[in-house]
Parts: sequence; C-alpha cells; structure tokens
Amino acid sequence: MSQSLTDMDNIQNKLSADCENCFGLCCVALPYAKSADFALNKDGGTPCPNLQSDYRCGIHKDLREKGFRGCAVYECFGAGQKVSQVTYDGNDWRNDKALAKEMFNVFPIMQQLHEMLYFLYEALHLEHTDSIHEDLQIAIEETENLTNLSPKSILDINVSEHRASVNTLLLQTSELVRATIPNKETKIDRKSNLFGANLIGADLRGANLRGAILIAADLSNTDMRETDLIGADFRDANICGANLEGSIFLTQAQVNAANGDAHTILPPALRIPDHWY
Ligand code: SF4
Repeated sequence: MSQSLTDMDNIQNKLSADCENCFGLCCVALPYAKSADFALNKDGGTPCPNLQSDYRCGIHKDLREKGFRGCAVYECFGAGQKVSQVTYDGNDWRNDKALAKEMFNVFPIMQQLHEMLYFLYEALHLEHTDSIHEDLQIAIEETENLTNLSPKSILDINVSEHRASVNTLLLQTSELVRATIPNKETKIDRKSNLFGANLIGADLRGANLRGAILIAADLSNTDMRETDLIGADFRDANICGANLEGSIFLTQAQVNAANGDAHTILPPALRIPDHWY
C-alpha cells in the first residue's frame, strides 16, 4: 500500500524541524567543539551564546560566515518540536531546571527515532518495496510507539537494538531498489578512501555508498540515480550537475553540506540550499 502525496507531505512536515515549536533544544542539549564546523566549544546542556530569548538563532542568516557551518547542516527530523510539545506537553525547560537535564537527554534519543522514521517512510513510499511493505509498516508503528512513551521510558529504550532491526529493512530496501541496475557492485568501493576523490562524471547509478566518506570529493556531473546514500558524508563535496533523482536515503542535511548548482538534480522532497547560488 503506497502513501498518498498528501500523506507524504504530512509525514515530511512531521519529520522536519519546526523551530517555532521547539525550545531551542539542539542549541542547548547538544555539545559542539571548536573546529571547521563550529567557532566555539560548548558543553551539552549549556545554551549556545547565539541563542536568543525567543529561542531563535541570532546569527541564523550568517551561520556559515560566522563559523557555525555545523548548525547549517544539522537536522533534528522534527524531534525538537516532538519533545517540546508532545513529550513535555509544552513545558519549557527554562521554567523547570529539574526537568531540563532529563529533556536534554531525551532529545538525542528522539532525534534518532525520528531519523529512523524518516528513512522507513521513504522506504515505504518506494514502488520497489511492495514485498516488504508489511514489515515496513510494522517497524513504523513500533518506532512511532517508542516516540510516544514517557520521558523516563524513552531514556530506557535500547536504541542500538531498535536501530539494528530497522537497518535490516533499510538494507533490504537498498537491495530491492538497486537490483535492476547492472554492474552496480563494481562501480565503486564505498570503503575505499574517497576523501577528496576525483569522481567527475562517474557512473555511480545503483552503487552502494552507505556511510561513504565523500568529504571534498568532486562528484560533479555524476549519475547517482538509485544510489544508496544513507549516512554518506558530503561535506564540501562538489555535486554541481550531479543527478541525484531517485537516489535513496539522501537527507536535507547531506545536501546542505555539499556544494551544488542550478544543474544539480535533487529528489523532489529536498530543496536547494541558500548557499549554492
Ligand atoms: S549558532 Fe545558532 S543554530 Fe547554532 S547552536 Fe547557536 S543558536 Fe543554535
């Protein structure tokens, strides 16, 4: 059973950040370290100095220029508003310090569960996955149920175990989608050193690039249709003119981390980042 477009729109909204309904959780709960991605050091549980009293980022329009590129490529998959408005029913951590620590621990778990939901719904929506739709729907229901638990129960979730069972389905999805593409296994070794690799114009259609390190790689004009891109690191990768339509498990955060142009073709659910042109 495939989802209607309206259903998918609702799902995508639910699994995208809605900062207006979040208590700035990613800007408080998570730590960051001074690096190419962050201009400062910050401990988890400490508000970022750029976070304003209305939970807006004071440098939102200039994150890259001010040295906070890591924020521009972060995606909570809607976990922020879920924790703020559902798990804690709109109770602001600033009004209850005892609650704050627990909320900050719940948030990264919710983020992982929402990320799993994002991929599971994508898999369910693909026409190639009819044979495992029932299993995908069961996994979605189980994961949704976990997101609706009480804070203390969320902290007790064995995330690794749940992720492993979800991953089995995502691997099956990958095989089903890539099955029709010939010679897919010989196109590239995702475990080889692809940092800064010159892959200009390469035929990567149907390749398995799960978790590949593609930092600063030149992927311009590549064909990445039906390519599995889950967890691939696209920081500073050049995807100008690349065709990513029909690639699977590509997220907005990965696209935001890369550099593309007007000729890059993205899957319809993803948008062109402001910094491209
Ligand atoms: S720089 Fe802005 S987006 Fe990044 S953590 Fe600070 S307040 Fe949040």
